[in-house]
Amino acid sequence: MRDVVVIGGGLSGLAACYELEKHPIRYTLIEVKKRLGGSIVSTAADGFIADASAFAVAEIEDLPLLAELSLAEDRFDFAPEQFGFCGGTQSLTGALARRLTGARLMRMAVSSIGRVDGRFTLCLENGLLLDAGAVIIAAPARYAERMLFNLAPEASDWLRGYDYDSICRVSLGYHKRDLPRRRIRPYSVIYPFVFATDSPGRVPDADHLLLQVGLRAFNDLSPEEIIGQVIAHYGCGENPLFARVDRWNESDPLSCYDDDHAATVSAMRARLPAGLSLIGSDYCLEPPQKGGVARLGERLRQGRAAARAALDFLNVD
Ligand SMILES: Cc1cc2nc3c(=O)[nH]c(=O)nc-3n(C[C@H](O)[C@H](O)[C@H](O)COP(=O)(O)OP(=O)(O)OC[C@H]3O[C@@H](n4cnc5c(N)ncnc54)[C@H](O)[C@@H]3O)c2cc1C
Repeated sequence: MRDVVVIGGGLSGLAACYELEKHPIRYTLIEVKKRLGGSIVSTAADGFIADASAFAVAEIEDLPLLAELSLAEDRFDFAPEQFGFCGGTQSLTGALARRLTGARLMRMAVSSIGRVDGRFTLCLENGLLLDAGAVIIAAPARYAERMLFNLAPEASDWLRGYDYDSICRVSLGYHKRDLPRRRIRPYSVIYPFVFATDSPGRVPDADHLLLQVGLRAFNDLSPEEIIGQVIAHYGCGENPLFARVDRWNESDPLSCYDDDHAATVSAMRARLPAGLSLIGSDYCLEPPQKGGVARLGERLRQGRAAARAALDFLNVD
């Protein structure tokens, strides 16, 4: 018999497990992919470390957590109130995952959740049935809506209406002599964000620079064509030392820009059965800031708060 099941091993689910780990309770983490970390992926090659998605972290108030995870020294500041991780953002999810000792079911997907005799029953796509005293769903709306179809039809209906932004991350590594002299500027409509760093750890040495560019859409172009467009747009040298394209067809929920998003999320959560939490990037209560970086901190806070709510529900100290 399981006490808590956490569905989804991205930053939110890992933060929930990390909090549960500190209490006398059995938990199981279920992740559909073969790796933990969700949309946070860092890739090391040719002396550069690139982030396929989250790169910039707002000064989160959860800094004691970074010290607990031995990451306080692994950060570099690159803009006012923003920092990145020398080893890539995956350092954060990796450090959380390494501290977890609870059961893990990898490459298994939860398809539906029900409630029998006061306990939750979870049906997995491979036919396995589990039960739990409390459940934390840390998966995007497009998956959560199916899990909640029978248990919470109203919430499921609302989650089905989600639309997403499509973002393409281009990472380019250069020797500085191959870059234009003018400043590389972010915030055009098509190139909404660009981060540049020569921080130790992220580049081979101080003569090199890593560019992390975010582009909207571009789904009809090949990676080579996308790289060519970015190089032409910024006037960089034609032969980067490192180049990589990562596509996120469903990155940010568009509704998080709506004025009533937080109120709607709260109203939807109020309709969920006691003992079940819904957390993650699709259910943010804090509006994204310019550049959209005030998010990893919220993921951590939501995850840990959901774990504490599950403990309260189960009367565990
Ligand atoms: C291109 C891009 C750039 C970004 N840049 C930044 C940035 O600079 N700063 C910042 O703060 N944030 C940024 N973000 C946002 C940040 O990456 C996310 O907010 C955060 O990683 C989301 O974590 P999560 O755990 O909520 O969701 P996810 O990472 O999506 O994790 C959800 C997990 O649930 C699993 N799952 C789904 N369905 C099931 C199922 N049925 N059963 C079991 N498991 C399931 C998935 O496989 C996944 O591992 C960016 C995001 C993108 C896409």
